[in-house]
Amino acid sequence: MDDQHLLDQFFTHPDCRKVRSCIQCGTCSGSCPLAAEMDHAPRELFALIRDGEIDIALRSNTPWYCVSCYQCMDRCPQEIPVADIMYRLKQMAIAAGCQPRSHKLPDFYRAFADDMGRNGRMTETHVMARYSLKHPMDAAANMATALKLLARGRLDLIPNRTHHPAQIAALTTMCRKRGSDS
Ligand code: SF4
Ligand code: SF4
Repeated sequence: MDDQHLLDQFFTHPDCRKVRSCIQCGTCSGSCPLAAEMDHAPRELFALIRDGEIDIALRSNTPWYCVSCYQCMDRCPQEIPVADIMYRLKQMAIAAGCQPRSHKLPDFYRAFADDMGRNGRMTETHVMARYSLKHPMDAAANMATALKLLARGRLDLIPNRTHHPAQIAALTTMCRKRGSDS
């Protein structure tokens, strides 16, 4: 998929169109608790997109490191829905096959969503087990910590389930469908 097509796709979305009104004040980056870990903090990411560098934006770790704290959105003088745009970028990156530099991030998100979809509630050990199927070396590296947490009763082996997991499963299926359709 060429960059122009991706850019058109990005700016088709009403939330993403608001990036055009970004005044590059940097309030979002200054408010973001994960900015130091991101390849491009939000202000820089939007500058890249407006310069047509959507490919770089889609391959960056920035959307994957966003923890949806919404501090940027609370403070943006242009009321740009930064966190919502991060979700859109993640959807686009998956659809376009643009893996971030750390290709593990989408796998972790999938493991989390799969567990939520199955049980309606997340169980850390199950999320890590799903993730470890693809990244066994990470599992080995974290095993000592996991065993300590288990010994102190801080991790559950039995899955946490809501009373009606099928309702959450239907919700996650609908969200995935909407994500792939949009
Ligand atoms: S706070 Fe809003 S206007 Fe300022 S750089 Fe961030 S997105 Fe742009
Ligand atoms: S919502 Fe995401 S981008 Fe915005 S401040 Fe929080 S972590 Fe950073």
